[in-house]
Amino acid sequence: MLPINPTRRAGGARPPLCILAAALLGCAAAARADDPAAAPPAADPPAAAAPEAPTAPAAAEPAGAPPLAPTLTPPQEAAVLTVSPHRLKEAIDFLAAPERGGRPSGSPGHRQARDWIRAQMAQIGLEPLGKDGDFLFPYPSHPNAGRLQRNADGSIGPHVNDTGYDVIGLLRGSDPDLSSEVLVLLAHYDHLGVDKKGVAFAGAFDDASGVAVALEVARALKAPGAAPRRSLLFLITDDEENGLSGARAWLAAPTLPLDRIVLAISADPLGRRIVPDYGPIVLAGLERSPQALDFFRETVGFAEHDVVFVHRSLIPRFHSDHDCFYELKPPIPAAWFTNPGMTFYHTVGDTPDTIDYRILLDSTRYAARALAYAGNTNRRFAYTGVPPITAESALAASVIFRGLLRSTSLTEAERTTIGFLFGELEKIEKFGRRKLDAHALQTLGKAFFFLFQLGYTHPGLVPPPFPEAAPGPAQK
Ligand SMILES: [Zn+2]
Repeated sequence: MLPINPTRRAGGARPPLCILAAALLGCAAAARADDPAAAPPAADPPAAAAPEAPTAPAAAEPAGAPPLAPTLTPPQEAAVLTVSPHRLKEAIDFLAAPERGGRPSGSPGHRQARDWIRAQMAQIGLEPLGKDGDFLFPYPSHPNAGRLQRNADGSIGPHVNDTGYDVIGLLRGSDPDLSSEVLVLLAHYDHLGVDKKGVAFAGAFDDASGVAVALEVARALKAPGAAPRRSLLFLITDDEENGLSGARAWLAAPTLPLDRIVLAISADPLGRRIVPDYGPIVLAGLERSPQALDFFRETVGFAEHDVVFVHRSLIPRFHSDHDCFYELKPPIPAAWFTNPGMTFYHTVGDTPDTIDYRILLDSTRYAARALAYAGNTNRRFAYTGVPPITAESALAASVIFRGLLRSTSLTEAERTTIGFLFGELEKIEKFGRRKLDAHALQTLGKAFFFLFQLGYTHPGLVPPPFPEAAPGPAQK
């Protein structure tokens, strides 16, 4: 067995500062009680106990290829069904409560959030992989310029901070050899503090949701017999909203050798649909590792919602912690795992009551299944750099547009625009896997901009936490 010892190794070159923030295109709104429910996932397939994954289709032409039906082990599939929307809600309600003061790093509310996450990791039974045998990973930090925080005496003042804390726990893999290889699930628990009136930027969607998902995935896969063969690292970062500083600090002084990391996924943010009756699960950045992209194409059947693969370059101006992994030398394959939904992005309206627990529950189950599936194999994914944007990106967009066209929540004007853009995307798809020309790229840019804009102009309804028909099994 190759143990994962807390060793210090220089991470790659320190990457240049990039803009903070998270989130995506789309928009969001909410759910309506009359929306068709997500059916509970199918029962376990007959136990093909071998945890090894099926072989990937060789040089698959993904467009039109029917999704394969990958399987997990029976204990894993049973564990995924214990994912609880009630625990997800408890986590978000705690982290995004007004008392947390919008969680700017170092503030009293942020410390409460940090200690709560640490206690959750201990209770779940993860191994601490911060510093000195603790879950906490302290590092020198700095104030987030222009931000305000609520102080211990209740006063509002400028953000002050000198130490950040990532919270890190390991779920050790079940295979003596493969457990030295690691899949990383990232989420960030810091947010933007308070506004001038002292109202918290609650950050329920950004990114209390990701933290809730990471803890629930950890809890599920810690069940007896459910751990994948590879290890899973739950890296809950600080200071994401402050230059991705927490993720960078850990990569500069990692507590496990970076060459053991197979893939890193940033869950940020999750839990909203584009319109009340449609929203996808997005994975962006996998095109930088075609092997990883082909692998994750096998997992689309793990979710009830559409899973679409978006070229990272089509989401300019936004960043999340996974981006730091691209900047290492050598880079590590990484992906952005998110639900588009910008309605309340970086506003004081990003409160727990706006979370759509149908897509959050499905996204959590998807993450647990996809990570277990990737953790059961010994397949490695090479990072091969940023490829050109091809017609595959049009395919991802047209899946979203096709979903939107089924929605009953759109205005006639929106429906007309979506219909027109959908037709244009279909033309682009005929290009195949070649690099797109300038006109096609412009159309694609328009399509993604439209999805982005839809969020701000189409807030829709706020979903009740648990619409009668929605979540599946709800264990507490
Ligand atoms: Zn953010």
